[in-house]
This record gives sequence, structure tokens and C-alpha cells, in this order.
Amino acid sequence: MNAIETQTFCSVYGPVKSWRFGRSLGIDPIGLVSTCSFNCVYCQLGEIEEKTCERRVFVSTQQIEQDLEPFVPWDVDRITLSGSGEPTLALNLGDILTMLKTVTGKPSGVLTNGSLITDPTVRSELTIADLVAVKVDAVEADRLKRIDRPIVNIELPDFWSALQQFRQIYSGKLAIQTMILSPWSDREQAIYIELMHGLLPDEIQLNTPTRPKPLSHEIDARGNYTPDALPYAARSLKPVSIEVLKTFADRIQKIAGIPVYYPDLLHQGQQPSKQPGF
Ligand code: SF4
Repeated sequence: MNAIETQTFCSVYGPVKSWRFGRSLGIDPIGLVSTCSFNCVYCQLGEIEEKTCERRVFVSTQQIEQDLEPFVPWDVDRITLSGSGEPTLALNLGDILTMLKTVTGKPSGVLTNGSLITDPTVRSELTIADLVAVKVDAVEADRLKRIDRPIVNIELPDFWSALQQFRQIYSGKLAIQTMILSPWSDREQAIYIELMHGLLPDEIQLNTPTRPKPLSHEIDARGNYTPDALPYAARSLKPVSIEVLKTFADRIQKIAGIPVYYPDLLHQGQQPSKQPGF
């Protein structure tokens, strides 16, 4: 019997405290094997075990509904789909979001890398969520390949066009999450700001790695641990300084007029730099 077969899996975990999303119950529609269309160098799941762009049902909606029962009355700010990989790979994404709304009555959120947003069905399913946070770690192919390491080529113009289409049909809150591992060039910042000005998300979150990356996949990495008390082996990543985040944030806010948030690095990323807007 291998290590995976001896682990038990619960598709609901938390509550997880996030510097930006408050207290959230996590839903993992992926399962014990980390599965993603990206293999980000900073991923808190460790090296992704199954790299795929194929959608399929990993965890049944019925199992998630059963796993929710011990958490009644769901005393959280929202219920968030994230977990052990890319949630839009779950073919039952729309079913899960509808069930969450019916069963819990809580606002729902999806954290996605956006790689499947060119699929109209995925865009349609995402509209059921109250909050969608899309990862945008690069505006040039070279940085995207180095940081996110997508398993297939991502055509950035197609991605931007699909994101714009999603923006037009989506009435919930759209957040853009951008991980900064090294300062961006002036040109990259200008392209990003122009794109954001056109997209007009409800907010932008600039992040930098504040949690070490596990050396291998750890199901516990879905939850809350302070960086110096992790129950698994991990490698630290060097964050950029708060000045780098602040300078970029100020430039975005000044030109595009979009609220920008970044973690308070002096407090281990647990404090928002501004009060949450939603
Ligand atoms: S997209 Fe998310 S789950 Fe996938 S590798 Fe990147 S950080 Fe990990």
C-alpha cells in the first residue's frame, strides 16, 4: 500500500484565514493527488504531481455535500474552492458552486489560475461564484514560463481576450492576484497597468511568497500554518521588499484607478494593507 492509499481525504477543510478573503471554509474539488495545468515555482502544494489540462470529475458533488455536514453552521465569511490544484479542472465545478449556494447560503469564491478561461463552459460556470480571483503572474511569455511553468503554451492575447469576455458576463467580484518574485521592468508594469485599465477588476492583489514551498506534496499545505511551524519539510522563497510592492501598487492605483492590496510583510502577510472591500 503506498503513501497516498493510506491517507484519508476530506474535501472540506479549514476554516482558513487569508489576509485578503477573511475566514473561509476551503473546498478541495481535486483530491489527494495535486493536479494542475501550471507548476508554479512558489506553489504551496509542492511539485505538482499530475500536470494536466483535461477536465474530469475528481471528487463527486455528493461527497463534498456530505463532507460539509460536520462544519454546520458554516461560521465563515465565505466558502472557497481551491485545494489541491486548479479548481476549474473539476468538470463538476458548476454543480459544486450551485450546491454550495443551495446548501450553505454562504458567498462562494473560486481561486483560479485562469488557464481554462478560454473555455466558454468554464466562464459560464464561474459566473455562479460570488467572487472569482484570477492569477496573472506575468504579461510576457518569458516570465510566465519561468514562474508559472504552464504545461501547455498559454497564448497571452487569447487569455486576455477570454478574461475580458468573462468580465462582460460576470456580475460578481473579480479580483486579480499577481505574485511578484522579482521586481518587474518598467515595460512590464506599463503593459500590466494598461491591461488592467481595460479589464477594470474590482481589485488587484499583489503578493510575494510569505510561505515556504513544501519539498513534496502535502495535503496539510491547504490549511493554516505559521511559516516557522510547518509540519512538513519546506524550502523558503525570498519575498520582494514591501517597497517594491508599494511602488507598483501606487502606480497602478494612480493610472488605472483600481484598488490594490498587498500583504503587510512586517506581520508575516496576515494583515491587509487596507481594510477588505468584500
Ligand atoms: S496554479 Fe495554483 S495550484 Fe497550480 S501550481 Fe500554481 S500555485 Fe499551485
